[in-house]
Amino acid sequence: MRILVLGGDGYLGWPTALHLSDRGHEVAVADNYARRAYDHEMGVQSLVPIEPMQVRLEAWRQVSGKTIKSYYGDLVDGDFTVEMIRDFRPDTIVHFAEQRAAPYSMIDRRHAVYTQQNNVVGNLNVLFAIQEVDPDIHLVKLGTMGEYGTPNIDIEEGWLEVTHKGRTDRVLYPKKPGSFYHLSKVHDSHNIEFACRIWGLRATDLNQGVVYGQETPQTALDTRLATRFDYDAIFGTVLNRFVIQAVLGHPLTVYGTGGQTRGLIDIRDTVECIRLASENPAEPGEFRVFNQITESFSVEEIAKVVANSFEGEVSVEHLDNPRVEQQEHYYNVVHTGLVELGLEPHLLSNTLIESLFGVADKYKDRVDLAAMLPTVKWRSASSPMRTEA
Ligand code: NAD
Repeated sequence: MRILVLGGDGYLGWPTALHLSDRGHEVAVADNYARRAYDHEMGVQSLVPIEPMQVRLEAWRQVSGKTIKSYYGDLVDGDFTVEMIRDFRPDTIVHFAEQRAAPYSMIDRRHAVYTQQNNVVGNLNVLFAIQEVDPDIHLVKLGTMGEYGTPNIDIEEGWLEVTHKGRTDRVLYPKKPGSFYHLSKVHDSHNIEFACRIWGLRATDLNQGVVYGQETPQTALDTRLATRFDYDAIFGTVLNRFVIQAVLGHPLTVYGTGGQTRGLIDIRDTVECIRLASENPAEPGEFRVFNQITESFSVEEIAKVVANSFEGEVSVEHLDNPRVEQQEHYYNVVHTGLVELGLEPHLLSNTLIESLFGVADKYKDRVDLAAMLPTVKWRSASSPMRTEA
Protein backbone atom coordinates (compact mmCIF):
# COMPACT_ATOMS: atom_id res chain seq x y z
CA MET A 1 0.00 0.00 0.00
CA ARG A 2 1.02 3.63 -0.40
CA ILE A 3 0.69 5.22 3.03
CA LEU A 4 1.17 8.90 3.85
CA VAL A 5 1.95 9.55 7.51
CA LEU A 6 1.02 13.11 8.52
CA GLY A 7 2.98 14.23 11.59
CA GLY A 8 5.73 11.77 10.65
CA ASP A 9 8.35 13.62 12.71
CA GLY A 10 6.46 13.16 15.99
CA TYR A 11 6.73 10.76 18.93
CA LEU A 12 4.32 8.29 17.29
CA GLY A 13 4.39 9.30 13.63
CA TRP A 14 8.08 8.46 13.18
CA PRO A 15 8.01 4.91 14.62
CA THR A 16 4.75 4.27 12.75
CA ALA A 17 6.37 5.29 9.45
CA LEU A 18 9.25 2.90 10.16
CA HIS A 19 6.90 0.05 11.14
CA LEU A 20 4.84 0.45 7.95
CA SER A 21 7.98 0.74 5.78
CA ASP A 22 9.40 -2.35 7.47
CA ARG A 23 6.21 -4.23 6.56
CA GLY A 24 6.76 -3.45 2.89
CA HIS A 25 4.45 -0.47 2.43
CA GLU A 26 5.48 2.52 0.31
CA VAL A 27 5.62 5.26 2.94
CA ALA A 28 5.90 9.04 2.89
CA VAL A 29 5.97 11.37 5.90
CA ALA A 30 4.83 14.97 6.18
CA ASP A 31 5.46 17.49 8.93
CA ASN A 32 5.80 21.23 9.56
CA TYR A 33 8.13 20.58 12.55
CA ALA A 34 5.82 22.53 14.86
CA ARG A 35 6.57 20.04 17.65
CA ARG A 36 10.26 20.94 17.60
CA ALA A 37 9.24 24.62 17.74
CA TYR A 38 7.07 24.03 20.86
CA ASP A 39 10.22 22.70 22.54
CA HIS A 40 11.99 25.99 21.82
CA GLU A 41 8.97 27.98 22.95
CA MET A 42 8.69 26.08 26.25
CA GLY A 43 12.44 25.75 26.80
CA VAL A 44 12.25 21.93 26.99
CA GLN A 45 13.61 19.06 24.94
CA SER A 46 13.08 15.35 24.42
CA LEU A 47 15.03 13.35 26.99
CA VAL A 48 16.35 11.13 24.22
CA PRO A 49 18.14 13.18 21.53
CA ILE A 50 16.40 13.06 18.17
CA GLU A 51 17.95 13.62 14.76
CA PRO A 52 16.70 15.97 12.04
CA MET A 53 14.37 14.34 9.52
CA GLN A 54 16.99 14.09 6.76
CA VAL A 55 19.35 12.20 9.09
CA ARG A 56 16.54 9.89 10.20
CA LEU A 57 15.58 9.08 6.61
CA GLU A 58 19.17 8.41 5.58
CA ALA A 59 19.71 6.18 8.64
CA TRP A 60 16.61 4.16 7.73
CA ARG A 61 17.85 3.79 4.15
CA GLN A 62 21.21 2.52 5.41
CA VAL A 63 19.68 0.14 7.96
CA SER A 64 16.78 -1.25 5.92
CA GLY A 65 17.57 -0.48 2.29
CA LYS A 66 14.13 1.21 2.08
CA THR A 67 13.37 4.82 1.29
CA ILE A 68 10.72 7.06 2.82
CA LYS A 69 9.70 10.21 0.99
CA SER A 70 9.35 13.40 3.01
CA TYR A 71 7.11 16.45 2.57
CA TYR A 72 7.62 19.67 4.51
CA GLY A 73 4.53 21.79 5.01
CA ASP A 74 1.59 22.86 7.14
CA LEU A 75 -1.78 21.11 6.85
CA VAL A 76 -3.45 24.43 7.66
CA ASP A 77 -2.29 25.45 4.18
CA GLY A 78 -5.01 23.79 2.09
CA ASP A 79 -3.12 24.17 -1.20
CA PHE A 80 -0.04 22.44 0.21
CA THR A 81 -2.20 19.62 1.58
CA VAL A 82 -4.04 18.93 -1.66
CA GLU A 83 -0.88 19.15 -3.79
CA MET A 84 0.99 16.75 -1.50
CA ILE A 85 -1.83 14.20 -1.65
CA ARG A 86 -2.09 14.62 -5.43
CA ASP A 87 1.67 14.09 -5.70
CA PHE A 88 1.96 10.98 -3.48
CA ARG A 89 -1.45 9.44 -4.31
CA PRO A 90 -1.73 7.37 -1.13
CA ASP A 91 -4.16 4.50 -0.56
CA THR A 92 -4.17 5.41 3.14
CA ILE A 93 -3.49 8.61 5.04
CA VAL A 94 -2.51 8.24 8.69
CA HIS A 95 -3.14 11.57 10.38
CA PHE A 96 -1.11 12.28 13.55
CA ALA A 97 -0.31 15.92 12.71
CA GLU A 98 -1.95 17.92 15.47
CA GLN A 99 -1.01 19.90 18.58
CA ARG A 100 -1.51 17.14 21.12
CA ALA A 101 -0.87 18.48 24.62
CA ALA A 102 -3.88 19.32 26.80
CA PRO A 103 -1.83 21.65 29.08
CA TYR A 104 -0.46 23.53 26.04
CA SER A 105 -4.02 24.21 24.86
CA MET A 106 -4.93 25.51 28.32
CA ILE A 107 -2.07 28.05 28.72
CA ASP A 108 -4.08 31.02 27.49
CA ARG A 109 -6.37 32.22 24.71
CA ARG A 110 -3.61 32.27 22.12
CA HIS A 111 -2.67 28.64 22.72
CA ALA A 112 -6.28 27.47 22.82
CA VAL A 113 -7.05 29.25 19.56
CA TYR A 114 -3.85 27.97 17.95
CA THR A 115 -4.63 24.39 18.99
CA GLN A 116 -8.15 24.44 17.62
CA GLN A 117 -7.18 26.24 14.41
CA ASN A 118 -4.23 23.98 13.78
CA ASN A 119 -6.10 20.77 14.50
CA VAL A 120 -9.59 21.46 13.18
CA VAL A 121 -8.56 23.40 10.06
CA GLY A 122 -5.69 21.01 9.25
CA ASN A 123 -8.03 18.01 9.51
CA LEU A 124 -10.69 19.78 7.42
CA ASN A 125 -8.09 20.45 4.71
CA VAL A 126 -7.17 16.75 4.72
CA LEU A 127 -10.85 15.81 4.27
CA PHE A 128 -11.30 18.26 1.38
CA ALA A 129 -8.08 17.07 -0.25
CA ILE A 130 -9.20 13.43 -0.08
CA GLN A 131 -12.58 14.34 -1.53
CA GLU A 132 -10.90 16.28 -4.34
CA VAL A 133 -8.04 13.93 -5.21
CA ASP A 134 -9.54 10.48 -4.57
CA PRO A 135 -12.51 9.83 -2.25
CA ASP A 136 -11.43 6.19 -2.02
CA ILE A 137 -8.38 7.09 0.13
CA HIS A 138 -8.81 5.64 3.62
CA LEU A 139 -8.23 8.18 6.40
CA VAL A 140 -6.83 6.73 9.62
CA LYS A 141 -7.13 9.56 12.11
CA LEU A 142 -5.70 9.74 15.61
CA GLY A 143 -8.32 10.79 18.10
CA THR A 144 -8.06 10.36 21.84
CA MET A 145 -9.87 8.57 24.65
CA GLY A 146 -10.00 12.02 26.24
CA GLU A 147 -12.82 12.86 23.83
CA TYR A 148 -15.21 10.79 25.95
CA GLY A 149 -14.21 12.15 29.34
CA THR A 150 -15.29 9.96 32.24
CA PRO A 151 -19.00 9.19 31.80
CA ASN A 152 -20.83 7.12 34.39
CA ILE A 153 -21.73 4.50 31.76
CA ASP A 154 -19.60 2.12 29.65
CA ILE A 155 -17.63 3.82 26.87
CA GLU A 156 -18.56 2.17 23.56
CA GLU A 157 -16.46 2.28 20.40
CA GLY A 158 -17.62 5.61 19.03
CA TRP A 159 -21.30 4.84 18.58
CA LEU A 160 -24.17 4.37 21.00
CA GLU A 161 -27.56 2.81 20.42
CA VAL A 162 -30.11 4.99 22.17
CA THR A 163 -33.75 4.22 22.83
CA HIS A 164 -35.66 7.40 23.53
CA LYS A 165 -39.42 7.53 24.09
CA GLY A 166 -39.81 4.13 22.48
CA ARG A 167 -37.72 4.87 19.36
CA THR A 168 -34.16 3.65 18.75
CA ASP A 169 -31.28 5.21 16.80
CA ARG A 170 -27.49 4.79 16.51
CA VAL A 171 -25.81 8.05 17.45
CA LEU A 172 -22.25 9.24 17.97
CA TYR A 173 -21.28 8.52 21.55
CA PRO A 174 -21.80 11.71 23.61
CA LYS A 175 -18.49 13.44 24.41
CA LYS A 176 -17.44 15.31 27.52
CA PRO A 177 -13.79 16.24 26.92
CA GLY A 178 -11.50 17.87 29.46
CA SER A 179 -9.47 20.51 27.59
CA PHE A 180 -9.51 22.72 24.50
CA TYR A 181 -7.13 20.18 22.91
CA HIS A 182 -9.50 17.29 23.56
CA LEU A 183 -12.36 19.44 22.24
CA SER A 184 -10.44 19.91 18.98
CA LYS A 185 -10.45 16.13 18.58
CA VAL A 186 -14.20 16.00 19.18
CA HIS A 187 -14.69 18.63 16.47
CA ASP A 188 -12.45 16.56 14.15
CA SER A 189 -14.52 13.45 14.79
CA HIS A 190 -17.72 15.27 13.89
CA ASN A 191 -16.20 16.68 10.71
CA ILE A 192 -14.93 13.26 9.66
CA GLU A 193 -18.26 11.53 10.37
CA PHE A 194 -19.97 14.25 8.30
CA ALA A 195 -17.54 13.73 5.39
CA CYS A 196 -18.20 9.97 5.47
CA ARG A 197 -21.96 10.46 5.59
CA ILE A 198 -22.18 13.21 2.97
CA TRP A 199 -19.30 12.50 0.59
CA GLY A 200 -18.97 8.76 1.12
CA LEU A 201 -15.40 8.97 2.41
CA ARG A 202 -14.01 6.04 4.41
CA ALA A 203 -12.38 6.75 7.77
CA THR A 204 -11.17 5.11 10.95
CA ASP A 205 -11.06 7.30 14.04
CA LEU A 206 -8.68 5.81 16.60
CA ASN A 207 -9.52 7.01 20.08
CA GLN A 208 -6.14 6.34 21.54
CA GLY A 209 -5.23 6.14 25.20
CA VAL A 210 -2.11 7.51 26.84
CA VAL A 211 0.95 6.05 25.13
CA TYR A 212 4.02 4.84 27.03
CA GLY A 213 7.36 3.44 25.94
CA GLN A 214 10.13 4.74 23.79
CA GLU A 215 11.34 1.91 21.56
CA THR A 216 9.95 -0.18 18.76
CA PRO A 217 11.89 -2.96 16.99
CA GLN A 218 12.72 -0.50 14.19
CA THR A 219 13.77 2.55 16.25
CA ALA A 220 16.06 0.27 18.27
CA LEU A 221 18.09 -0.60 15.17
CA ASP A 222 20.17 2.60 15.25
CA THR A 223 20.39 5.53 17.72
CA ARG A 224 19.70 7.89 14.80
CA LEU A 225 16.24 6.28 14.49
CA ALA A 226 15.20 7.08 18.08
CA THR A 227 11.87 8.72 18.71
CA ARG A 228 11.26 11.45 21.26
CA PHE A 229 10.71 10.84 24.98
CA ASP A 230 8.95 13.69 26.74
CA TYR A 231 8.79 14.10 30.47
CA ASP A 232 7.94 17.76 31.05
CA ALA A 233 4.63 18.85 32.59
CA ILE A 234 3.26 20.09 29.25
CA PHE A 235 4.11 17.25 26.84
CA GLY A 236 5.25 14.38 29.06
CA THR A 237 2.80 11.52 29.47
CA VAL A 238 2.33 10.24 32.98
CA LEU A 239 4.11 6.88 32.96
CA ASN A 240 7.13 8.28 31.12
CA ARG A 241 7.35 11.11 33.68
CA PHE A 242 7.11 8.74 36.66
CA VAL A 243 9.93 6.60 35.24
CA ILE A 244 12.25 9.60 35.06
CA GLN A 245 11.28 10.80 38.54
CA ALA A 246 12.05 7.33 39.96
CA VAL A 247 15.46 7.23 38.27
CA LEU A 248 16.36 10.69 39.59
CA GLY A 249 15.30 9.74 43.12
CA HIS A 250 12.48 12.30 43.05
CA PRO A 251 8.96 11.70 44.32
CA LEU A 252 6.45 10.63 41.69
CA THR A 253 4.12 13.61 41.36
CA VAL A 254 0.51 12.44 41.43
CA TYR A 255 -2.06 15.14 40.73
CA GLY A 256 -4.83 15.17 43.35
CA THR A 257 -5.90 11.82 44.78
CA GLY A 258 -4.61 9.88 41.76
CA GLY A 259 -7.97 8.15 41.38
CA GLN A 260 -8.24 9.45 37.79
CA THR A 261 -8.37 6.36 35.55
CA ARG A 262 -7.16 6.37 31.97
CA GLY A 263 -6.69 3.89 29.13
CA LEU A 264 -3.06 3.17 28.27
CA ILE A 265 -1.22 1.61 25.35
CA ASP A 266 2.36 0.53 24.64
CA ILE A 267 4.02 2.37 21.72
CA ARG A 268 4.67 -1.01 20.03
CA ASP A 269 0.92 -1.62 20.02
CA THR A 270 0.20 1.88 18.69
CA VAL A 271 2.24 1.25 15.55
CA GLU A 272 0.67 -2.18 15.12
CA CYS A 273 -2.86 -0.78 15.52
CA ILE A 274 -2.14 1.69 12.74
CA ARG A 275 -0.92 -1.12 10.48
CA LEU A 276 -4.01 -3.22 11.22
CA ALA A 277 -6.39 -0.30 10.61
CA SER A 278 -4.58 0.60 7.37
CA GLU A 279 -4.52 -2.94 5.97
CA ASN A 280 -8.20 -3.50 6.89
CA PRO A 281 -9.82 -0.28 5.68
CA ALA A 282 -13.25 1.03 6.56
CA GLU A 283 -15.94 0.65 3.90
CA PRO A 284 -16.82 3.59 1.64
CA GLY A 285 -19.12 5.89 3.63
CA GLU A 286 -18.16 4.21 6.91
CA PHE A 287 -17.03 6.23 9.94
CA ARG A 288 -15.39 3.44 11.96
CA VAL A 289 -14.23 4.06 15.51
CA PHE A 290 -11.86 1.97 17.59
CA ASN A 291 -10.86 2.61 21.18
CA GLN A 292 -7.10 2.18 20.93
CA ILE A 293 -6.20 1.12 24.48
CA THR A 294 -5.10 -2.18 25.95
CA GLU A 295 -5.45 -1.58 29.70
CA SER A 296 -6.83 0.94 32.18
CA PHE A 297 -5.04 2.18 35.28
CA SER A 298 -5.60 4.95 37.79
CA VAL A 299 -2.73 7.44 38.14
CA GLU A 300 -2.15 6.09 41.65
CA GLU A 301 -1.89 2.54 40.25
CA ILE A 302 0.59 3.66 37.59
CA ALA A 303 2.71 5.24 40.33
CA LYS A 304 2.59 1.94 42.27
CA VAL A 305 3.60 -0.13 39.22
CA VAL A 306 6.58 2.17 38.61
CA ALA A 307 7.57 2.18 42.29
CA ASN A 308 7.33 -1.62 42.57
CA SER A 309 9.43 -2.20 39.45
CA PHE A 310 12.22 0.16 40.53
CA GLU A 311 15.11 -1.19 42.57
CA GLY A 312 15.43 1.53 45.17
CA GLU A 313 13.37 3.93 47.26
CA VAL A 314 10.48 5.62 45.50
CA SER A 315 8.09 8.02 47.20
CA VAL A 316 4.87 9.52 45.91
CA GLU A 317 3.93 13.17 46.36
CA HIS A 318 0.36 14.34 45.86
CA LEU A 319 0.21 17.80 44.25
CA ASP A 320 -2.86 20.02 43.95
CA ASN A 321 -4.49 18.95 40.72
CA PRO A 322 -3.92 21.74 38.16
CA ARG A 323 -6.60 20.20 35.96
CA VAL A 324 -10.33 20.20 36.48
CA GLU A 325 -11.31 16.54 36.33
CA GLN A 326 -13.21 13.92 38.32
CA GLN A 327 -10.77 12.21 40.63
CA GLU A 328 -12.91 9.20 41.52
CA HIS A 329 -15.17 7.83 38.82
CA TYR A 330 -16.52 4.84 36.91
CA TYR A 331 -14.39 3.81 33.90
CA ASN A 332 -15.19 0.86 31.69
CA VAL A 333 -14.11 1.00 28.06
CA VAL A 334 -15.06 -1.36 25.24
CA HIS A 335 -11.92 -2.02 23.16
CA THR A 336 -12.51 -5.15 21.12
CA GLY A 337 -12.35 -3.81 17.53
CA LEU A 338 -8.57 -3.82 17.12
CA VAL A 339 -8.20 -7.18 18.88
CA GLU A 340 -10.71 -8.59 16.38
CA LEU A 341 -8.44 -7.32 13.59
CA GLY A 342 -5.54 -9.26 15.17
CA LEU A 343 -3.90 -7.01 17.77
CA GLU A 344 -1.97 -8.99 20.38
CA PRO A 345 -1.44 -6.43 23.14
CA HIS A 346 1.77 -5.93 25.08
CA LEU A 347 0.47 -5.43 28.61
CA LEU A 348 2.35 -3.19 31.01
CA SER A 349 5.07 -5.35 32.49
CA ASN A 350 8.14 -5.01 34.63
CA THR A 351 10.31 -5.80 31.60
CA LEU A 352 9.04 -2.78 29.71
CA ILE A 353 9.37 -0.46 32.68
CA GLU A 354 12.86 -1.75 33.41
CA SER A 355 13.92 -0.96 29.84
CA LEU A 356 12.47 2.54 30.30
CA PHE A 357 14.49 2.96 33.51
CA GLY A 358 17.55 2.19 31.36
CA VAL A 359 16.63 4.89 28.83
CA ALA A 360 16.01 7.43 31.59
CA ASP A 361 19.24 6.55 33.34
CA LYS A 362 21.29 6.90 30.16
CA TYR A 363 20.06 10.45 29.54
CA LYS A 364 19.39 11.66 33.09
CA ASP A 365 21.91 14.50 32.74
CA ARG A 366 19.61 16.10 30.18
CA VAL A 367 16.69 16.37 32.64
CA ASP A 368 15.44 19.85 33.45
CA LEU A 369 13.85 19.48 36.88
CA ALA A 370 11.86 22.72 36.69
CA ALA A 371 10.14 21.51 33.53
CA MET A 372 8.45 18.70 35.45
CA LEU A 373 6.40 20.93 37.74
CA PRO A 374 2.92 21.75 36.47
CA THR A 375 2.49 25.45 35.74
CA VAL A 376 -0.65 25.49 33.60
CA LYS A 377 -3.81 25.67 35.68
CA TRP A 378 -7.14 24.83 34.08
CA ARG A 379 -9.14 27.37 36.11
CA SER A 380 -6.90 30.30 35.19
CA ALA A 381 -6.30 29.42 31.58
CA SER A 382 -6.88 33.00 30.43
CA SER A 383 -3.84 34.29 32.29
CA PRO A 384 -0.98 35.77 30.23
CA MET A 385 1.44 33.30 28.73
CA ARG A 386 3.95 32.39 31.40
CA THR A 387 6.83 32.04 28.95
CA GLU A 388 6.60 35.61 27.69
CA ALA A 389 8.53 37.05 30.60
P1 NAD B 1 3.71 14.81 18.47
O1 NAD B 1 3.44 16.22 18.82
O2 NAD B 1 4.99 14.20 18.89
O3 NAD B 1 3.57 14.61 16.88
C1 NAD B 1 2.69 15.36 16.08
C2 NAD B 1 3.46 15.81 14.85
O4 NAD B 1 2.58 16.56 14.00
C3 NAD B 1 4.63 16.73 15.21
O5 NAD B 1 5.82 16.27 14.60
C4 NAD B 1 4.21 18.10 14.66
O6 NAD B 1 5.29 18.88 14.22
C5 NAD B 1 3.26 17.71 13.53
N1 NAD B 1 2.24 18.74 13.24
C6 NAD B 1 1.44 19.38 14.13
N2 NAD B 1 0.65 20.26 13.49
C7 NAD B 1 0.95 20.16 12.16
C8 NAD B 1 0.46 20.81 10.99
N3 NAD B 1 -0.48 21.77 11.06
N4 NAD B 1 0.99 20.47 9.79
C9 NAD B 1 1.97 19.52 9.71
N5 NAD B 1 2.47 18.88 10.78
C10 NAD B 1 1.96 19.20 11.99
O7 NAD B 1 2.46 13.95 19.01
P2 NAD B 1 2.34 12.38 19.25
O8 NAD B 1 2.48 12.11 20.70
O9 NAD B 1 3.15 11.65 18.26
O10 NAD B 1 0.81 12.18 18.90
C11 NAD B 1 0.39 11.96 17.56
C12 NAD B 1 -1.12 11.96 17.48
O11 NAD B 1 -1.65 10.96 18.34
C13 NAD B 1 -1.74 13.28 17.88
O12 NAD B 1 -2.79 13.60 17.01
C14 NAD B 1 -2.26 13.01 19.26
O13 NAD B 1 -3.38 13.79 19.55
C15 NAD B 1 -2.61 11.53 19.21
N6 NAD B 1 -2.51 10.93 20.54
C16 NAD B 1 -1.30 10.85 21.20
C17 NAD B 1 -1.24 10.27 22.45
C18 NAD B 1 0.06 10.17 23.22
O14 NAD B 1 0.04 9.62 24.35
N7 NAD B 1 1.16 10.60 22.67
C19 NAD B 1 -2.41 9.78 23.06
C20 NAD B 1 -3.61 9.87 22.37
C21 NAD B 1 -3.65 10.44 21.11
